[in-house]
Amino acid sequence: MNCSMQIKAKGDKKTINCEEKAIFSNPNYCAKHFSKYVEQKTADTIKKFKLISPSDKICVAVSGGKDSVSLLYILKKQGFNVEALAIDEGIAGYRNITLDFLKNFCEKHKIKLTIKNYEDDFGKRLDEVVKKGEPACNLCGTFRRHMLNKYAAEYDKIATGHNLDDEAQAVLMNLFKAQTRMLGRQGPKTSKKDFVRKIKPFYFLKEKEIMAYAFLNDINVPFIECPFASVSFRGHIRDWLNALEAKTPGTKENIIRHYLSLTKKIKMDDASTLDECPLCGFPSSNGLCHACRLKMKL
Ligand code: SF4
Ligand SMILES: [Zn+2]
Ligand SMILES: [Zn+2]
Repeated sequence: MNCSMQIKAKGDKKTINCEEKAIFSNPNYCAKHFSKYVEQKTADTIKKFKLISPSDKICVAVSGGKDSVSLLYILKKQGFNVEALAIDEGIAGYRNITLDFLKNFCEKHKIKLTIKNYEDDFGKRLDEVVKKGEPACNLCGTFRRHMLNKYAAEYDKIATGHNLDDEAQAVLMNLFKAQTRMLGRQGPKTSKKDFVRKIKPFYFLKEKEIMAYAFLNDINVPFIECPFASVSFRGHIRDWLNALEAKTPGTKENIIRHYLSLTKKIKMDDASTLDECPLCGFPSSNGLCHACRLKMKL
């Protein structure tokens, strides 16, 4: 099958179909036009949801995975004022490898990279804490969010590499757990006061599209998995949604579109319930924030 991108014929005003072989189906694009499609969809999301203003200084939260690194690459390519921020949890044999990759990538693309580590903020490496029996992912996620908010305070926005798959999974997880407040915090951008606004320019791009984009653009991220990753509730939802998508294509996008049509009402309910954490000053819904509670427990 050939690429379905419409292009202008040389010296002519009318459009014709690109004649290259499609390397990707639905949409059917050749390598060059597939990359253009991903970049254009990112730009369209930024424009439609007013994610970035021309004067914004953007902090891209990078993990060293294909999503966040591709996002950094595309935003830089599109001329935005971007810097990268990585959090080093202290996971030997994993994070040091992804950080080495990030250092090389940012040096090659002339992007400023800042690395902050758990040990400086919370007094311990994650692998030390896990050895003592604490569950890894809850601690890891809470501290990472806290540090991103803290160290991105000097920026106008934090951009994350969340894609359509991540977002559809998150909508279902919060629905199944009846976490309406969390549900109200999703969407292409957050609006909570006192936090740096978070934006998700890949909101409408599928995981496999970003994977293909990274491959086609020589973004060779290390294929390595965190040793603490386990089969989580999200993992079950992901597998179930993938099976559903294979049977009924468009399911994930439908979830996101229905969510967005409900989002105004949910967000209004959320806005009235946030307070300030008495220790760190970040928004909290119930006295001490979750990060400060965990820090005290450790
Ligand atoms: S799998 Fe869990 S412990 Fe490992 S990086 Fe992810 S959240 Fe952290
Ligand atoms: Zn083409
Ligand atoms: Zn706090």
